[in-house]
Amino acid sequence: MVDSKKPDERIIFMLSPEGQGDGVPMLIIAIPKAAWEYMADTKTNTVDLTKAGLPIKVMIFGCDDRAHAMSIMEEWNAKAGLPTQYDDRDFGVQPIRCSRCGKNNRPNGCFLAGCPMIRK
Ligand SMILES: [Zn+2]
Repeated sequence: MVDSKKPDERIIFMLSPEGQGDGVPMLIIAIPKAAWEYMADTKTNTVDLTKAGLPIKVMIFGCDDRAHAMSIMEEWNAKAGLPTQYDDRDFGVQPIRCSRCGKNNRPNGCFLAGCPMIRK
């Protein structure tokens, strides 16, 4: 773990406590070009969200490709004596759909005209 001390080489993050409105906070990360280049050879930038009350720490690093990323993670785990477990599910964030009209919206009240769950 080698975080840059130069502000331009650091990632920038925003924490949205309500996220998509489903009560799950969303972490949004921006990677400026200088930070991207800093991390290119496996150096890291990290975020400790325990300081914001969330039980998670985030580490980001750059690498050549997918195989390189996996070999680095396997190496770190091996040094710690841990197995590497793979999970091929799609972890992409999906849009929230209104439970009444089915369109993309906030789950606790729709704002779309014609929806029976419309909230003013
Ligand atoms: Zn709706």
